[in-house]
Amino acid sequence: MLEQGKIDALRAQPVPAFSHLIDGRHVAASNGATMDIISPIDGKVLTTAARGTAADMEAAIAAARAAFEDRRWAGQPPSARKKVLMKWADLIEANALELAVLGVRDNGTEIGMAIKAEPASAAATIRYYAEALDKIYGEIAPTQSDVLGLIHKEPVGVVGAIIPWNFPMMIGAWKLGPALAMGNSVILKPAETASLSLMRMADLALEAGLPPGVLNAVTGEGAVVGEAMGLSMDLDVLVFTGSGGTGRRLMEYSARSNMKRVYLELGGKSPNIVFADAPNLAEAAKVTAAGIFRNAGQVCVAGSRLLVEASIHDEFVAAVTRAAEAMRVGDPLKTDTQIGAVNSEAQLTQNLKFVETAQAEGGQIVTGGTRILQDSGGCYMAPTIVTDVTPEATLAQKEVFGPVLGVTSFRTDDDAVRIANATVYGLAGGVWTSNLGRAHRMVRDVRTGVMHVNTYGGADGTVPLGGVGQSGNGVDKSLHAIEKYINLKTAWIRL
Ligand code: ADP
Repeated sequence: MLEQGKIDALRAQPVPAFSHLIDGRHVAASNGATMDIISPIDGKVLTTAARGTAADMEAAIAAARAAFEDRRWAGQPPSARKKVLMKWADLIEANALELAVLGVRDNGTEIGMAIKAEPASAAATIRYYAEALDKIYGEIAPTQSDVLGLIHKEPVGVVGAIIPWNFPMMIGAWKLGPALAMGNSVILKPAETASLSLMRMADLALEAGLPPGVLNAVTGEGAVVGEAMGLSMDLDVLVFTGSGGTGRRLMEYSARSNMKRVYLELGGKSPNIVFADAPNLAEAAKVTAAGIFRNAGQVCVAGSRLLVEASIHDEFVAAVTRAAEAMRVGDPLKTDTQIGAVNSEAQLTQNLKFVETAQAEGGQIVTGGTRILQDSGGCYMAPTIVTDVTPEATLAQKEVFGPVLGVTSFRTDDDAVRIANATVYGLAGGVWTSNLGRAHRMVRDVRTGVMHVNTYGGADGTVPLGGVGQSGNGVDKSLHAIEKYINLKTAWIRL
């Protein structure tokens, strides 16, 4: 149960300046530079963080490499590594409210969602991989009888993780959990506009007993420290969640440097397909609204395209509109807020530009479309629904990453599949129907990494999340995520 009094007490505390974590020590940028951390709640400066340089990133990578080479972590017995990671999860849980409030002050996610999606999810993820790490076996190949073919699963070495600003702790843990469980060293590069909670979470790993240098974290601009990470000649694997444009750059950096493995979880334009035979249209409308508007739409799997069967179009859009208008937008640190702040001024400006373009292309705004609560000094946008969006329209093709739902109607199942698949993305989707055969056909035919049936969102850590097409490659979550952080090594032994 969230207590408003405790949250208010935490938000009243000043936030100290943040610095890098390199080789177990907090250090300033090599040139002393800092960047202001602005809270989207009120537009005020919250604190500063180190504005990292390429040299800082190189130092962090060198520390991670040294930690890997002397096997201070990978060389520990699995039971010892498990104990450290379990302790880390416990510490994250013990500090959950403090971490969540710090994160919300930094990135604007409503606290009701942040408390579950951030520290709770991060702790569960770390624990999941801690529990798994001594259950991952190598293999013996069924080969000729005078040979023993062994397949070892080795850590890859040094992993770089570039994290976005929407759910820094949750997504950070998706990378850190399996990477550290398998014995790798890691360098984190949090997002400029959401680094604080993740930096604090990294400190807790050291407190739990992770040896210095195994986990390093460097704050700063993507174009500077992120680029230095991408271009490093000494990084083995680069994992990323964020925009397609940055993902493309990371692949270029890899090609221009040491051809490091690059795994990308990019955006989506996920179709949420509602048939007239949905089991409960009122429920579908509420979940549809939550599926695009929670965290102000800043969710990679957000159901940003509503495809609705023509026969129920008007009725269903009216129901989603009612649900959207009933959602409370505002101060993300109030426990009853359902939609918090947009992460930054830049993001809000971009959201509004998308709405303008949608209108210019024939879209009709049914609700929202504007900035609200301007007096607060923060970044808030009304949940926005745009109908008459053609499958080719910008709003149907480009990811907004904001509280904007585009609606398109369809007549047949084939129509729905064709429209659903008519983007470069393939991250998530949903289908609402009582027809079992239709549900399975949609799961099969809509090209995505995850399909929700008669619900939207909320998949837990036991199932993988990854995109197809330009939504990326490789998966986070589940045991499958471990594959990104290991090398398979064959030993061919003559007997
Ligand atoms: P968005 O456009 O939604 O802010 P980005 O993909 O730009 O998403 O940001 C996600 C992460 O990528 C952030 O940590 C950001 O600092 C980082 N980043 C941005 N540009 C680059 C770049 N050129 N090289 C490496 N990382 C980058």
